[in-house]
Amino acid sequence: MATQEQVIDLQRQNAVLNRLLDVSLILNSNLAIKPLLGFIMEATCEITSSEAASIMLYDRNADQLRFVAANSPGTDMAKLAAIPVPMEGSIGGQIVRENRSIMIQDESDPRIYRPVDNAIKFRTRSLLGVPMQIKGEVIGVLESVNKREGPWTEEDRSHLSILASQAAVAIQNAQQAEALRKAYDSLHQLDKLKSDFIAIASHELRTPLGVILGYASFLQEEAQGEASEHATAVLNSALHLRNLIEDLTNLRFLQLGSTELSREPVPVSALIEAAEHDVHSLIAAKGTKLIVDRTHGEALVNVDRLKIGMALTNILNNAIKFTPNNGQITIAMEKRHHEILIRVQDNGMGIPPDKLERIFDQFYQVEDHMTRRQNGMGIGLSIARGMVQAHDGRLWAESEGLNKGSTFIIALPLVEPHN
Ligand code: ADP
Repeated sequence: MATQEQVIDLQRQNAVLNRLLDVSLILNSNLAIKPLLGFIMEATCEITSSEAASIMLYDRNADQLRFVAANSPGTDMAKLAAIPVPMEGSIGGQIVRENRSIMIQDESDPRIYRPVDNAIKFRTRSLLGVPMQIKGEVIGVLESVNKREGPWTEEDRSHLSILASQAAVAIQNAQQAEALRKAYDSLHQLDKLKSDFIAIASHELRTPLGVILGYASFLQEEAQGEASEHATAVLNSALHLRNLIEDLTNLRFLQLGSTELSREPVPVSALIEAAEHDVHSLIAAKGTKLIVDRTHGEALVNVDRLKIGMALTNILNNAIKFTPNNGQITIAMEKRHHEILIRVQDNGMGIPPDKLERIFDQFYQVEDHMTRRQNGMGIGLSIARGMVQAHDGRLWAESEGLNKGSTFIIALPLVEPHN
């Protein structure tokens, strides 16, 4: 028969174990670092029946410990965090070095590191410290300070050790989550800087470019002979620059989600013809053969001519650019269910399978820009995809691999089936 005392003791132990279980559930619930540390402090005092608790983490580079949490009354955490605790001559240091717990029952024990007490005006009378470890590596120390009644027990030691091992994992998780969040924030900041720079640069370039274009066309008309040829060269380069700036502006509009569409029913053949017209001089210069396969008839789409035209032209420009001289490009269309697919196929340099999606990222180019032979900024495809998606369509690339040609497919919702 158990005595009354034994029953009470068992009930107490049961309550502590239940509390440990609750604590472990909360520690696993992805708390942010600050509330997490506060919670560990409270749980330590409650489970080991003490007045205060603290956590020190081991700084491997400086080979010293630093307080990251403490809950003794009136503790100035900033002050405490600023006091490094040496590995030699402190209990914390000994716990980390020897990877074992230490129990101090008497306030006259010389191992108590008094500089900390003095700095925060606290008196350590007794102390139980356990290592916090992850996969055998000690990352710090969890200490329970000033047992409320009587001495520390072996039970306190084992309960605090259980708490410390769970706390270590939770702290590491929270630290990693925080580091990730910070990295994400700075990426976001960088992305914003990039977008702002693009917006400012493209805006500021417009005015001087307008002046160059005006004078160059004036000169081209007025000048004679060689001077006129020079003016034409200036004009063409300025027009090229204007296209680049327009691309940057379009990219920004797409990012802001503010592309306005003025839709109308347009035959797909008209879109293809307009794009053919846009690239005809480039085709002629490179001797590319352009075949438009009309065997699948006609189809109507409800689109903004200019915006879809821009997507198609960008794709065609690429097909010409990334196909060697005298290459061949085929444009074909095919109705499939409620969509019309426009395929632009070339027999050029092709795209490696792992880059088929990445090429649609802004500023991404398969070839390094230092070694690449073709010009461009790497935004044509992101604009094209943005424009197509704004029409509830899809754009993707297919290729058998390097030097096996590429096919870009635009899928647009069909307005009315046309047979
Ligand atoms: P840019 O042409 O200015 O580099 P794009 O966004 O239009 O930018 O294209 C991104 C990248 O995708 C290109 O740099 C190229 O590496 C690849 N690419 C696009 N079209 C083709 C194609 N038809 N054949 C091979 N590679 C292509």
